[in-house]
Amino acid sequence: MPEGTRPGEGAATRSVSVPSPAAADVIARVRSVPIDIGPGLVAPALSALVEPWLLVTQPEPLESVDPELVSRAGRIEVIDSLARADLEALARRTPAEIRTVVGLGGGMALDAAKWIAWSRGLPLVLAPSIVSVDASVTNTVAVRDGGTIVYEGFVVADRIVVDTDLIASAPPRLNRAGVGDLLSIHTGLFDWRLGSHAGRIAWDAGIAEAAARVLDRVELTAPEIAAVSEAGVGGVVEMYAEVNALCLRAGHSGPEEGSEHYFAYRLEEVTGRSFVHGEVVGLGTVLMATLQRNDQARAVRVLDTCGVAWRPRDQDLSRAMLLEALTSLPAFVRAHALPWSVADEADLSPAAAGRLLDEALGDERD
Ligand SMILES: [Zn+2]
Repeated sequence: MPEGTRPGEGAATRSVSVPSPAAADVIARVRSVPIDIGPGLVAPALSALVEPWLLVTQPEPLESVDPELVSRAGRIEVIDSLARADLEALARRTPAEIRTVVGLGGGMALDAAKWIAWSRGLPLVLAPSIVSVDASVTNTVAVRDGGTIVYEGFVVADRIVVDTDLIASAPPRLNRAGVGDLLSIHTGLFDWRLGSHAGRIAWDAGIAEAAARVLDRVELTAPEIAAVSEAGVGGVVEMYAEVNALCLRAGHSGPEEGSEHYFAYRLEEVTGRSFVHGEVVGLGTVLMATLQRNDQARAVRVLDTCGVAWRPRDQDLSRAMLLEALTSLPAFVRAHALPWSVADEADLSPAAAGRLLDEALGDERD
C-alpha cells in the first residue's frame, strides 16, 4: 500500500496501488506482533537468537551496538540502497544456514531486512534506531525501481524491539518528526470523508473512529514525544502499528494519508529537494487543514507541543516555493491519480493560495 515517503527520496514519483483489504487472519497476525519497549533491549534480544543470524544495518546504528554482540552475527549487511537490483542481490547472497534476519537501523535497514525475510521466508526481528518513519511496523518494502517507488512484498515481523537507549542516540529533531505521519490522520481522515461524499471511495465509520482515537492519543502523548522519552518513543511505535493495522483493514491509506502527503510530494518535485518526512508532512497538515476549514489550530498545537520543526523557515522554504506547490497541486493529484482529497475540490488559484498561506502561517511567511 502507499505509505508515504522516507527521508531522502527526493523527487521520485510514486506508484499508487489500490489493494483490497487484508484478510482477517493476516490482520490478526499483524496485531499480535510483540512490541517490546524499554532501555537496553537490543542486547538481550540479540543474545537470545539462534545462530547464525543476519544483521542488516547502517553505519551509525552499527556503531551503537556492543561489538561483542555484533560479532555473533553470522553475516552483516550494511545497507545504502533500496534499489531493486540491490535488494535482489542481498536476498540471493544470504547464506542458506541463516536462521533469522535482524533489521537494526532506520527505514532503509528495516526495509532491506523485510525484503530478505520476505523473499527467503525467514523469521524477522526489527529494531528501529530512530522513530522518524514507520518502517518497523509496516509490512511492505519501498523498492526503488528507476525513478519510481513501488511498495512490494508482505512480511510480518516476529518481534519489534524498541530499545529506547538506541533510539535516544539518534538526533532528537528526527525522532520528534515521527509524529508527522500520525498527525496526518487529522487531514487524511477529512479527505477520506470528502472522497466518500464524492462517491470515490467507501467510508468505514469504525476504522475512522479508531483512527480518530489514535489522533487523540497523539495529542495526549505530545509532551513525551517532545522529550523523546520512553513513553513518547514507545507511544509513537505503538500508534504507527495501530494505524498500519487500520490501513490493512481499510485496504487503503485513507485513515492516515491525504492531501497533506500530496502537498509534500509536490513540494519535493517543485524544489528538487528531500525533506525530513514528518516535518514537511507537518507543514502540509497545517496548510491542508486550513484549506479544509478543519481545526488548523489543533495541527499547529500538536506539532509545536511535540517540538517538530515544521515551519517554512525551519525547512528553508520560501513563500514562492509554497505558492508554486499549492497552485500546481490540483494538476499534480490528477496526473498521479491520487485518491480524492480537498485538492480536487478547493480553489488553489494564485490569489486563493496566497490567502491560504496568509491565513495558515500568518506573519511567519518568508
Ligand atoms: Zn508519510
